[in-house]
Amino acid sequence: MYHRDMTQTLDQRSAAGGADATAAAAPEGGAGTPHTRIAIVGSGFAGLGLAIRLRQGGVEDFVVLERDSEVGGTWRDNTYPGCACDVPSHLYSFSFAPNPDWTRTFSPQPEIQAYLRRCAREFGVTPHIRFDTALRDARWDEQNGRWLLQTSRGALTAQFLVAAQGALSEPSTPDIPGIESFAGEVFHTARWQAGAALRGRRVAVIGTGASAIQVVPRIQPEVSKLVLFQRTPPWVMPHRDRPIRDWERAVYRHVPAAQRAMRAGVYWGRELFVLGFSGGAMPLGERIARRHLRSQVADRELRRKLTPRYRMGCKRVLISNDYYPALTQPNVDVVTEGIREIRPDGLVTEDGALHQVDAIIFATGFKVTDMPIAGIVHGRDGRSLDDAWQGSPQAHQGTSVAGFPNLFLMTGPNTGLGHTSMVFMMESQIAYLLDALRQVDARGAGVVEVRDDAQRSYNEEVQQRLARTVWNVGGCRSWYLDRNGRNSTLWPGATWRYRLRTRRFDAESYTMRAPVREPAATR
Ligand code: NAP
Repeated sequence: MYHRDMTQTLDQRSAAGGADATAAAAPEGGAGTPHTRIAIVGSGFAGLGLAIRLRQGGVEDFVVLERDSEVGGTWRDNTYPGCACDVPSHLYSFSFAPNPDWTRTFSPQPEIQAYLRRCAREFGVTPHIRFDTALRDARWDEQNGRWLLQTSRGALTAQFLVAAQGALSEPSTPDIPGIESFAGEVFHTARWQAGAALRGRRVAVIGTGASAIQVVPRIQPEVSKLVLFQRTPPWVMPHRDRPIRDWERAVYRHVPAAQRAMRAGVYWGRELFVLGFSGGAMPLGERIARRHLRSQVADRELRRKLTPRYRMGCKRVLISNDYYPALTQPNVDVVTEGIREIRPDGLVTEDGALHQVDAIIFATGFKVTDMPIAGIVHGRDGRSLDDAWQGSPQAHQGTSVAGFPNLFLMTGPNTGLGHTSMVFMMESQIAYLLDALRQVDARGAGVVEVRDDAQRSYNEEVQQRLARTVWNVGGCRSWYLDRNGRNSTLWPGATWRYRLRTRRFDAESYTMRAPVREPAATR
Protein backbone atom coordinates (compact mmCIF):
# COMPACT_ATOMS: atom_id res chain seq x y z
CA MET A 1 0.00 0.00 0.00
CA TYR A 2 3.04 2.26 0.04
CA HIS A 3 3.56 4.47 -2.97
CA ARG A 4 7.01 5.94 -3.38
CA ASP A 5 5.35 9.11 -4.63
CA MET A 6 2.75 9.24 -1.88
CA THR A 7 3.86 12.71 -0.92
CA GLN A 8 3.22 13.99 -4.43
CA THR A 9 -0.49 13.37 -4.64
CA LEU A 10 -1.37 17.03 -5.16
CA ASP A 11 1.06 17.36 -7.99
CA GLN A 12 -0.28 14.26 -9.63
CA ARG A 13 -3.79 15.63 -9.40
CA SER A 14 -2.81 18.85 -11.12
CA ALA A 15 -0.86 16.93 -13.75
CA ALA A 16 -4.11 15.28 -14.75
CA GLY A 17 -5.18 18.53 -16.40
CA GLY A 18 -8.71 19.92 -16.64
CA ALA A 19 -10.97 22.55 -18.12
CA ASP A 20 -9.56 26.00 -17.29
CA ALA A 21 -6.08 25.61 -18.66
CA THR A 22 -3.60 28.43 -18.10
CA ALA A 23 -2.40 28.21 -21.65
CA ALA A 24 -3.04 24.73 -22.93
CA ALA A 25 -0.59 23.77 -25.64
CA ALA A 26 0.90 27.26 -25.87
CA PRO A 27 4.36 27.29 -27.42
CA GLU A 28 7.17 27.79 -24.95
CA GLY A 29 7.34 31.52 -24.27
CA GLY A 30 6.63 32.36 -27.91
CA ALA A 31 4.04 34.69 -29.40
CA GLY A 32 0.62 33.67 -28.16
CA THR A 33 1.90 32.62 -24.76
CA PRO A 34 -0.16 34.46 -22.15
CA HIS A 35 1.74 37.08 -20.19
CA THR A 36 1.02 38.37 -16.72
CA ARG A 37 2.77 41.01 -14.69
CA ILE A 38 3.04 38.88 -11.55
CA ALA A 39 2.80 35.11 -11.18
CA ILE A 40 2.38 33.94 -7.61
CA VAL A 41 3.01 30.28 -6.79
CA GLY A 42 0.69 29.00 -4.08
CA SER A 43 -2.55 30.17 -2.50
CA GLY A 44 -1.80 29.61 1.16
CA PHE A 45 -1.57 32.45 3.65
CA ALA A 46 1.35 34.07 1.80
CA GLY A 47 0.02 33.83 -1.75
CA LEU A 48 -3.48 34.91 -0.77
CA GLY A 49 -2.20 37.75 1.40
CA LEU A 50 -0.15 39.11 -1.47
CA ALA A 51 -3.00 38.69 -3.96
CA ILE A 52 -5.37 40.58 -1.67
CA ARG A 53 -2.91 43.41 -1.12
CA LEU A 54 -2.23 43.68 -4.85
CA ARG A 55 -5.93 44.05 -5.54
CA GLN A 56 -6.33 46.57 -2.75
CA GLY A 57 -3.53 48.57 -4.39
CA GLY A 58 -5.34 48.51 -7.74
CA VAL A 59 -3.15 45.82 -9.37
CA GLU A 60 -5.22 43.31 -11.33
CA ASP A 61 -2.60 41.93 -13.70
CA PHE A 62 -1.52 38.87 -11.73
CA VAL A 63 -2.26 35.17 -11.50
CA VAL A 64 -1.94 32.71 -8.66
CA LEU A 65 -0.79 29.22 -9.69
CA GLU A 66 -2.31 26.67 -7.36
CA ARG A 67 -1.56 22.97 -7.81
CA ASP A 68 -4.65 21.88 -5.87
CA SER A 69 -8.30 22.64 -6.54
CA GLU A 70 -8.67 24.61 -3.33
CA VAL A 71 -6.88 27.49 -1.54
CA GLY A 72 -5.27 27.17 1.89
CA GLY A 73 -1.80 25.68 1.45
CA THR A 74 -0.62 23.78 4.49
CA TRP A 75 -3.95 24.46 6.21
CA ARG A 76 -5.74 22.75 3.35
CA ASP A 77 -3.34 19.81 3.26
CA ASN A 78 -3.12 19.00 6.97
CA THR A 79 -6.46 17.46 7.82
CA TYR A 80 -5.25 14.92 10.37
CA PRO A 81 -7.40 14.59 13.51
CA GLY A 82 -6.44 17.20 16.10
CA CYS A 83 -4.71 19.54 13.66
CA ALA A 84 -4.77 23.06 15.08
CA CYS A 85 -2.58 26.12 15.27
CA ASP A 86 -0.20 26.52 18.19
CA VAL A 87 -0.15 30.30 17.79
CA PRO A 88 -3.16 32.13 19.28
CA SER A 89 -6.04 32.73 16.86
CA HIS A 90 -6.17 36.52 17.24
CA LEU A 91 -2.59 36.79 16.02
CA TYR A 92 -2.66 33.97 13.49
CA SER A 93 -4.73 35.81 10.89
CA PHE A 94 -4.31 38.75 8.51
CA SER A 95 -4.12 42.13 10.28
CA PHE A 96 -6.45 43.50 7.59
CA ALA A 97 -9.02 40.74 8.00
CA PRO A 98 -9.70 40.17 11.70
CA ASN A 99 -12.06 37.32 12.45
CA PRO A 100 -14.29 37.98 15.47
CA ASP A 101 -15.76 34.50 15.15
CA TRP A 102 -12.84 32.28 16.14
CA THR A 103 -14.36 29.68 18.45
CA ARG A 104 -11.18 28.83 20.37
CA THR A 105 -8.13 30.73 21.54
CA PHE A 106 -6.04 28.37 19.35
CA SER A 107 -7.88 27.72 16.09
CA PRO A 108 -8.53 24.22 14.80
CA GLN A 109 -7.49 23.55 11.18
CA PRO A 110 -11.02 23.54 9.69
CA GLU A 111 -11.64 27.09 10.98
CA ILE A 112 -8.38 28.40 9.55
CA GLN A 113 -9.09 26.76 6.23
CA ALA A 114 -12.61 28.25 6.18
CA TYR A 115 -11.12 31.65 7.05
CA LEU A 116 -8.69 31.48 4.11
CA ARG A 117 -11.43 30.37 1.75
CA ARG A 118 -13.58 33.27 2.91
CA CYS A 119 -10.72 35.77 2.50
CA ALA A 120 -10.11 34.57 -1.08
CA ARG A 121 -13.77 35.01 -1.90
CA GLU A 122 -14.53 38.25 -0.08
CA PHE A 123 -11.41 40.08 -1.27
CA GLY A 124 -12.15 39.02 -4.85
CA VAL A 125 -8.95 37.12 -5.59
CA THR A 126 -10.54 33.78 -6.53
CA PRO A 127 -10.88 34.76 -10.24
CA HIS A 128 -7.10 35.28 -10.33
CA ILE A 129 -6.35 31.75 -9.13
CA ARG A 130 -5.48 29.07 -11.70
CA PHE A 131 -6.46 25.94 -9.81
CA ASP A 132 -5.01 22.49 -10.57
CA THR A 133 -2.01 24.22 -12.09
CA ALA A 134 1.40 23.20 -10.80
CA LEU A 135 4.57 25.09 -11.68
CA ARG A 136 6.91 22.66 -13.44
CA ASP A 137 9.77 24.92 -14.50
CA ALA A 138 10.70 28.61 -14.35
CA ARG A 139 13.47 30.17 -16.44
CA TRP A 140 14.60 33.77 -16.47
CA ASP A 141 14.59 35.25 -19.96
CA GLU A 142 17.26 37.94 -19.83
CA GLN A 143 16.53 39.27 -23.30
CA ASN A 144 12.92 40.04 -22.57
CA GLY A 145 13.23 40.63 -18.85
CA ARG A 146 10.63 38.10 -17.84
CA TRP A 147 10.09 34.62 -16.49
CA LEU A 148 9.17 31.72 -18.77
CA LEU A 149 6.94 29.43 -16.78
CA GLN A 150 5.95 25.90 -17.64
CA THR A 151 2.98 24.65 -15.69
CA SER A 152 1.03 21.42 -15.70
CA ARG A 153 -1.47 23.26 -17.90
CA GLY A 154 0.82 24.97 -20.33
CA ALA A 155 3.20 27.89 -20.56
CA LEU A 156 2.97 31.51 -19.54
CA THR A 157 5.35 34.39 -19.06
CA ALA A 158 5.52 36.79 -16.15
CA GLN A 159 7.49 39.93 -15.40
CA PHE A 160 7.72 38.96 -11.72
CA LEU A 161 7.67 35.55 -10.11
CA VAL A 162 6.71 35.19 -6.47
CA ALA A 163 7.43 31.82 -4.84
CA ALA A 164 4.78 31.61 -2.12
CA GLN A 165 4.58 27.84 -1.93
CA GLY A 166 5.60 27.87 1.75
CA ALA A 167 8.03 25.84 3.78
CA LEU A 168 5.52 23.27 4.98
CA SER A 169 4.19 22.16 1.61
CA GLU A 170 6.28 19.11 0.72
CA PRO A 171 6.00 16.23 3.18
CA SER A 172 9.26 14.56 4.09
CA THR A 173 9.20 10.78 4.37
CA PRO A 174 12.35 8.91 5.38
CA ASP A 175 13.49 6.23 3.00
CA ILE A 176 13.36 3.27 5.36
CA PRO A 177 14.54 0.00 3.78
CA GLY A 178 11.71 -2.39 2.97
CA ILE A 179 8.96 0.19 3.09
CA GLU A 180 7.56 -0.92 -0.28
CA SER A 181 6.96 -4.38 1.15
CA PHE A 182 4.62 -3.23 3.92
CA ALA A 183 1.21 -4.86 3.52
CA GLY A 184 -0.94 -2.29 5.36
CA GLU A 185 -1.83 1.38 4.89
CA VAL A 186 1.00 3.93 4.88
CA PHE A 187 0.54 7.67 4.80
CA HIS A 188 1.93 11.01 5.99
CA THR A 189 0.07 13.27 8.42
CA ALA A 190 0.03 15.99 5.73
CA ARG A 191 -1.73 13.58 3.34
CA TRP A 192 -4.19 12.14 5.83
CA GLN A 193 -6.33 9.33 4.44
CA ALA A 194 -9.74 10.05 5.92
CA GLY A 195 -10.96 6.63 4.86
CA ALA A 196 -8.08 4.71 6.42
CA ALA A 197 -9.23 1.92 8.69
CA LEU A 198 -7.51 2.66 11.99
CA ARG A 199 -10.25 1.70 14.42
CA GLY A 200 -9.32 -1.45 16.28
CA ARG A 201 -6.02 -1.75 14.35
CA ARG A 202 -2.39 -1.72 15.39
CA VAL A 203 -0.90 1.57 14.24
CA ALA A 204 2.66 2.89 14.14
CA VAL A 205 3.29 6.64 14.32
CA ILE A 206 6.80 7.73 13.36
CA GLY A 207 7.89 11.11 14.72
CA THR A 208 7.13 13.20 17.79
CA GLY A 209 6.97 16.76 16.41
CA ALA A 210 4.13 19.30 16.32
CA SER A 211 1.96 17.12 14.06
CA ALA A 212 2.48 13.89 16.02
CA ILE A 213 1.62 15.37 19.39
CA GLN A 214 -1.71 16.56 18.01
CA VAL A 215 -2.68 13.38 16.20
CA VAL A 216 -1.55 10.80 18.78
CA PRO A 217 -4.08 11.74 21.50
CA ARG A 218 -6.86 11.70 18.90
CA ILE A 219 -6.22 8.26 17.46
CA GLN A 220 -5.02 6.52 20.64
CA PRO A 221 -8.52 5.85 22.03
CA GLU A 222 -9.71 4.20 18.81
CA VAL A 223 -6.77 1.99 17.84
CA SER A 224 -6.10 -1.35 19.48
CA LYS A 225 -2.37 -0.65 19.73
CA LEU A 226 -0.33 2.48 19.09
CA VAL A 227 3.43 2.17 18.67
CA LEU A 228 5.07 5.59 18.77
CA PHE A 229 8.58 5.74 17.31
CA GLN A 230 10.42 8.58 19.00
CA ARG A 231 13.88 9.68 17.90
CA THR A 232 14.08 12.84 20.00
CA PRO A 233 11.64 13.75 22.79
CA PRO A 234 10.12 17.23 22.41
CA TRP A 235 9.80 19.81 25.17
CA VAL A 236 6.09 20.00 25.91
CA MET A 237 4.46 22.91 27.77
CA PRO A 238 0.92 23.10 29.19
CA HIS A 239 -1.63 24.28 26.62
CA ARG A 240 -3.88 27.23 27.41
CA ASP A 241 -6.44 26.59 24.71
CA ARG A 242 -10.06 27.32 25.66
CA PRO A 243 -13.33 28.11 23.91
CA ILE A 244 -13.94 31.79 23.19
CA ARG A 245 -17.24 32.64 24.86
CA ASP A 246 -20.24 34.01 22.98
CA TRP A 247 -20.04 37.35 24.76
CA GLU A 248 -16.34 37.71 23.87
CA ARG A 249 -17.15 37.12 20.23
CA ALA A 250 -19.95 39.68 20.42
CA VAL A 251 -17.51 42.23 21.84
CA TYR A 252 -15.00 41.56 19.02
CA ARG A 253 -17.78 41.84 16.45
CA HIS A 254 -19.12 45.15 17.75
CA VAL A 255 -15.91 46.71 19.04
CA PRO A 256 -13.16 45.79 16.56
CA ALA A 257 -10.70 47.86 18.59
CA ALA A 258 -11.06 45.28 21.37
CA GLN A 259 -9.82 42.52 19.09
CA ARG A 260 -7.01 44.72 17.82
CA ALA A 261 -5.97 45.34 21.43
CA MET A 262 -6.09 41.60 22.15
CA ARG A 263 -3.99 40.92 19.05
CA ALA A 264 -1.43 43.52 20.13
CA GLY A 265 -1.31 42.01 23.62
CA VAL A 266 -0.72 38.51 22.23
CA TYR A 267 1.92 39.83 19.82
CA TRP A 268 3.98 41.60 22.48
CA GLY A 269 3.57 38.74 24.93
CA ARG A 270 5.05 36.33 22.42
CA GLU A 271 7.86 38.69 21.49
CA LEU A 272 9.10 38.30 25.07
CA PHE A 273 9.96 34.66 24.25
CA VAL A 274 12.67 35.98 21.95
CA LEU A 275 14.74 36.88 25.00
CA GLY A 276 14.96 33.19 25.91
CA PHE A 277 15.63 31.97 22.39
CA SER A 278 18.34 34.54 21.74
CA GLY A 279 19.89 34.06 25.15
CA GLY A 280 20.61 30.40 24.41
CA ALA A 281 18.45 28.91 27.19
CA MET A 282 15.06 29.09 28.87
CA PRO A 283 15.55 27.64 32.37
CA LEU A 284 12.13 28.74 33.63
CA GLY A 285 10.38 27.17 30.63
CA GLU A 286 12.35 23.96 31.15
CA ARG A 287 11.23 23.85 34.81
CA ILE A 288 7.58 24.30 33.83
CA ALA A 289 7.83 21.60 31.13
CA ARG A 290 9.53 19.13 33.51
CA ARG A 291 6.80 19.74 36.08
CA HIS A 292 4.18 19.19 33.35
CA LEU A 293 5.80 15.85 32.48
CA ARG A 294 6.03 14.80 36.15
CA SER A 295 2.42 15.68 36.80
CA GLN A 296 1.16 13.71 33.81
CA VAL A 297 3.45 10.68 33.66
CA ALA A 298 3.83 8.62 36.82
CA ASP A 299 5.93 5.83 35.31
CA ARG A 300 9.64 6.61 35.84
CA GLU A 301 10.86 4.66 32.83
CA LEU A 302 8.40 6.35 30.49
CA ARG A 303 9.28 9.74 32.01
CA ARG A 304 12.96 9.04 31.38
CA LYS A 305 12.23 8.31 27.72
CA LEU A 306 10.19 11.49 27.37
CA THR A 307 12.73 13.81 29.01
CA PRO A 308 14.61 15.96 26.48
CA ARG A 309 18.41 16.06 26.73
CA TYR A 310 18.89 19.35 24.92
CA ARG A 311 17.97 22.94 25.75
CA MET A 312 14.37 24.01 25.38
CA GLY A 313 13.76 25.95 22.17
CA CYS A 314 16.43 24.16 20.15
CA LYS A 315 13.52 22.41 18.43
CA ARG A 316 10.05 23.91 18.26
CA VAL A 317 8.53 24.04 21.76
CA LEU A 318 5.27 22.08 21.73
CA ILE A 319 2.11 22.65 23.74
CA SER A 320 -0.32 19.94 24.78
CA ASN A 321 -2.36 18.77 27.73
CA ASP A 322 -3.35 15.42 26.28
CA TYR A 323 -0.17 14.10 24.63
CA TYR A 324 1.53 12.72 27.76
CA PRO A 325 -1.71 11.25 29.18
CA ALA A 326 -2.25 9.42 25.86
CA LEU A 327 1.22 7.89 26.11
CA THR A 328 0.45 6.48 29.57
CA GLN A 329 -2.43 4.38 28.24
CA PRO A 330 -2.02 0.58 28.21
CA ASN A 331 -2.41 0.36 24.43
CA VAL A 332 0.59 2.64 23.77
CA ASP A 333 4.28 1.74 23.41
CA VAL A 334 6.90 4.45 23.10
CA VAL A 335 9.82 2.97 21.18
CA THR A 336 13.11 4.86 21.25
CA GLU A 337 15.23 2.36 19.31
CA GLY A 338 15.99 3.47 15.75
CA ILE A 339 14.05 1.87 12.90
CA ARG A 340 16.21 -0.55 10.92
CA GLU A 341 13.74 -1.78 8.33
CA ILE A 342 10.11 -2.31 7.47
CA ARG A 343 8.67 -5.74 6.72
CA PRO A 344 5.24 -6.68 5.36
CA ASP A 345 3.87 -7.03 8.88
CA GLY A 346 5.70 -4.33 10.82
CA LEU A 347 8.83 -2.39 11.72
CA VAL A 348 12.11 -3.84 12.93
CA THR A 349 14.17 -1.72 15.29
CA GLU A 350 17.95 -1.71 15.70
CA ASP A 351 17.69 -4.12 18.63
CA GLY A 352 16.12 -6.69 16.29
CA ALA A 353 12.61 -6.44 17.75
CA LEU A 354 9.69 -6.69 15.33
CA HIS A 355 6.80 -4.31 16.07
CA GLN A 356 3.81 -5.75 14.26
CA VAL A 357 1.35 -3.15 12.97
CA ASP A 358 -1.46 -2.86 10.44
CA ALA A 359 -0.81 0.77 9.45
CA ILE A 360 2.09 3.24 9.48
CA ILE A 361 1.64 6.99 9.84
CA PHE A 362 4.60 9.21 9.07
CA ALA A 363 4.54 12.35 11.22
CA THR A 364 8.00 13.16 9.94
CA GLY A 365 7.64 16.78 8.89
CA PHE A 366 8.44 18.64 5.70
CA LYS A 367 11.17 19.38 3.17
CA VAL A 368 12.06 22.79 4.48
CA THR A 369 15.65 23.55 3.52
CA ASP A 370 15.54 21.20 0.53
CA MET A 371 12.31 22.48 -0.97
CA PRO A 372 11.66 21.02 -4.43
CA ILE A 373 10.83 24.40 -6.01
CA ALA A 374 14.52 25.34 -5.70
CA GLY A 375 15.32 22.72 -8.33
CA ILE A 376 12.97 24.12 -10.95
CA VAL A 377 13.60 27.88 -10.73
CA HIS A 378 16.52 28.88 -12.99
CA GLY A 379 18.06 32.34 -12.85
CA ARG A 380 20.05 34.64 -15.13
CA ASP A 381 22.86 32.21 -15.91
CA GLY A 382 20.62 29.14 -16.11
CA ARG A 383 21.55 27.88 -12.64
CA SER A 384 18.79 26.72 -10.36
CA LEU A 385 18.29 28.00 -6.84
CA ASP A 386 19.55 24.60 -5.71
CA ASP A 387 22.78 25.15 -7.68
CA ALA A 388 23.17 28.64 -6.25
CA TRP A 389 22.50 27.58 -2.68
CA GLN A 390 24.37 24.28 -2.50
CA GLY A 391 22.19 23.11 0.37
CA SER A 392 22.21 26.40 2.28
CA PRO A 393 19.37 28.64 1.10
CA GLN A 394 20.02 32.36 1.45
CA ALA A 395 18.41 35.53 0.27
CA HIS A 396 18.51 39.26 0.91
CA GLN A 397 15.82 40.16 3.46
CA GLY A 398 14.72 36.53 3.09
CA THR A 399 13.19 37.63 -0.20
CA SER A 400 15.58 38.29 -3.11
CA VAL A 401 18.40 36.16 -4.51
CA ALA A 402 21.37 37.50 -6.51
CA GLY A 403 21.33 36.06 -10.02
CA PHE A 404 17.53 35.68 -9.95
CA PRO A 405 16.07 38.97 -11.20
CA ASN A 406 12.41 39.77 -10.57
CA LEU A 407 12.06 36.78 -8.24
CA PHE A 408 10.62 37.23 -4.77
CA LEU A 409 10.49 34.47 -2.17
CA MET A 410 7.70 34.60 0.37
CA THR A 411 8.70 33.08 3.72
CA GLY A 412 12.14 32.61 2.18
CA PRO A 413 15.41 31.71 3.93
CA ASN A 414 15.74 32.92 7.54
CA THR A 415 12.23 34.26 7.84
CA GLY A 416 10.90 31.27 9.83
CA LEU A 417 9.91 31.66 13.46
CA GLY A 418 10.05 29.56 16.59
CA HIS A 419 7.89 31.79 18.76
CA THR A 420 5.11 33.64 16.99
CA SER A 421 2.89 34.05 13.93
CA MET A 422 4.34 33.59 10.44
CA VAL A 423 1.51 35.75 9.14
CA PHE A 424 3.28 38.76 10.68
CA MET A 425 6.42 37.96 8.67
CA MET A 426 4.39 37.42 5.49
CA GLU A 427 2.70 40.80 5.84
CA SER A 428 6.10 42.42 6.31
CA GLN A 429 7.36 40.77 3.12
CA ILE A 430 4.23 41.75 1.23
CA ALA A 431 4.77 45.43 2.12
CA TYR A 432 8.40 45.13 0.98
CA LEU A 433 7.40 43.54 -2.29
CA LEU A 434 4.70 46.09 -3.04
CA ASP A 435 7.16 48.90 -2.42
CA ALA A 436 9.64 47.15 -4.74
CA LEU A 437 7.05 47.11 -7.52
CA ARG A 438 6.28 50.78 -6.92
CA GLN A 439 9.95 51.75 -7.08
CA VAL A 440 10.60 49.68 -10.21
CA ASP A 441 7.70 51.47 -11.88
CA ALA A 442 8.73 54.89 -10.61
CA ARG A 443 12.18 54.44 -12.17
CA GLY A 444 10.80 53.08 -15.40
CA ALA A 445 12.89 49.91 -14.89
CA GLY A 446 11.52 46.51 -15.77
CA VAL A 447 14.16 44.42 -14.06
CA VAL A 448 15.33 44.45 -10.46
CA GLU A 449 18.03 42.26 -8.95
CA VAL A 450 19.66 42.24 -5.54
CA ARG A 451 23.39 42.99 -5.46
CA ASP A 452 25.58 40.08 -4.50
CA ASP A 453 27.49 42.11 -1.88
CA ALA A 454 24.23 43.30 -0.26
CA GLN A 455 22.98 39.74 -0.02
CA ARG A 456 26.29 38.58 1.41
CA SER A 457 26.53 41.22 4.12
CA TYR A 458 22.87 40.75 5.09
CA ASN A 459 23.42 37.02 5.53
CA GLU A 460 26.65 37.51 7.46
CA GLU A 461 24.75 39.66 9.90
CA VAL A 462 21.88 37.16 10.19
CA GLN A 463 24.28 34.27 10.79
CA GLN A 464 26.22 36.28 13.35
CA ARG A 465 23.04 36.96 15.29
CA LEU A 466 21.96 33.33 15.06
CA ALA A 467 25.28 32.08 16.39
CA ARG A 468 24.36 32.64 20.03
CA THR A 469 20.75 31.48 19.85
CA VAL A 470 19.38 28.28 21.34
CA TRP A 471 18.47 27.09 17.83
CA ASN A 472 22.18 26.91 17.02
CA VAL A 473 23.74 26.05 20.38
CA GLY A 474 20.91 24.18 22.14
CA GLY A 475 22.45 20.75 21.60
CA CYS A 476 19.97 19.23 19.16
CA ARG A 477 19.69 18.46 15.48
CA SER A 478 16.60 20.10 13.98
CA TRP A 479 15.20 20.95 10.59
CA TYR A 480 16.11 24.56 11.32
CA LEU A 481 19.63 23.52 10.28
CA ASP A 482 20.28 22.60 6.64
CA ARG A 483 22.42 19.75 5.37
CA ASN A 484 25.55 21.87 5.84
CA GLY A 485 24.63 22.50 9.48
CA ARG A 486 23.81 26.16 8.83
CA ASN A 487 20.64 27.70 10.20
CA SER A 488 19.00 28.88 7.00
CA THR A 489 15.48 28.72 8.35
CA LEU A 490 14.93 31.08 11.26
CA TRP A 491 14.80 34.82 11.70
CA PRO A 492 17.20 35.53 14.55
CA GLY A 493 15.13 37.64 16.90
CA ALA A 494 12.22 39.99 17.37
CA THR A 495 9.81 40.10 14.44
CA TRP A 496 9.33 43.87 14.74
CA ARG A 497 12.97 44.20 13.71
CA TYR A 498 12.14 42.38 10.49
CA ARG A 499 9.13 44.61 9.99
CA LEU A 500 11.28 47.71 10.38
CA ARG A 501 13.84 46.38 7.89
CA THR A 502 11.20 45.59 5.28
CA ARG A 503 8.84 48.53 5.66
CA ARG A 504 10.64 50.22 2.76
CA PHE A 505 12.23 48.59 -0.29
CA ASP A 506 15.99 49.26 0.03
CA ALA A 507 16.62 50.08 -3.63
CA GLU A 508 20.26 50.85 -2.83
CA SER A 509 20.84 47.10 -2.31
CA TYR A 510 19.61 46.35 -5.82
CA THR A 511 20.37 47.08 -9.44
CA MET A 512 17.49 48.19 -11.62
CA ARG A 513 17.56 48.16 -15.38
CA ALA A 514 15.36 48.03 -18.41
CA PRO A 515 15.03 44.66 -20.14
CA VAL A 516 17.23 44.21 -23.20
CA ARG A 517 14.04 44.12 -25.24
CA GLU A 518 10.53 45.12 -24.15
CA PRO A 519 8.20 42.10 -23.82
CA ALA A 520 6.20 41.67 -27.00
CA ALA A 521 3.10 39.91 -25.75
CA THR A 522 0.94 41.28 -22.96
CA ARG A 523 -2.30 39.96 -21.65
P1 NAP B 1 8.74 18.01 12.58
O1 NAP B 1 8.62 19.02 13.63
O2 NAP B 1 9.84 18.13 11.58
O3 NAP B 1 8.81 16.61 13.30
C1 NAP B 1 9.16 15.45 12.59
C2 NAP B 1 9.32 14.33 13.57
O4 NAP B 1 9.66 13.17 12.84
C3 NAP B 1 10.46 14.57 14.56
O5 NAP B 1 10.09 14.05 15.79
C4 NAP B 1 11.60 13.78 13.94
O6 NAP B 1 12.56 13.33 14.87
C5 NAP B 1 10.84 12.60 13.39
N1 NAP B 1 11.57 11.90 12.34
C6 NAP B 1 11.96 12.37 11.14
N2 NAP B 1 12.60 11.41 10.46
C7 NAP B 1 12.61 10.30 11.27
C8 NAP B 1 13.13 9.00 11.13
N3 NAP B 1 13.80 8.62 10.03
N4 NAP B 1 12.96 8.14 12.16
C9 NAP B 1 12.31 8.52 13.27
N5 NAP B 1 11.79 9.73 13.46
C10 NAP B 1 11.95 10.61 12.45
O7 NAP B 1 7.40 17.87 11.70
P2 NAP B 1 5.91 18.25 12.09
O8 NAP B 1 5.56 17.69 13.40
O9 NAP B 1 5.05 17.91 10.95
O10 NAP B 1 5.99 19.81 12.25
C11 NAP B 1 6.64 20.59 11.29
C12 NAP B 1 6.35 22.04 11.54
O11 NAP B 1 5.02 22.27 11.11
C13 NAP B 1 6.34 22.48 12.98
O12 NAP B 1 7.57 22.77 13.51
C14 NAP B 1 5.47 23.69 12.91
O13 NAP B 1 6.19 24.77 12.41
C15 NAP B 1 4.46 23.25 11.92
N6 NAP B 1 3.29 22.66 12.58
C16 NAP B 1 2.57 23.46 13.36
C17 NAP B 1 1.50 22.94 14.01
C18 NAP B 1 0.73 23.81 14.88
O14 NAP B 1 0.61 24.97 14.69
N7 NAP B 1 0.19 23.26 15.90
C19 NAP B 1 1.12 21.62 13.86
C20 NAP B 1 1.88 20.83 13.04
C21 NAP B 1 2.97 21.36 12.40
P3 NAP B 1 13.81 14.27 15.30
O15 NAP B 1 13.23 15.31 16.20
O16 NAP B 1 14.75 13.36 15.95
O17 NAP B 1 14.34 14.85 14.01
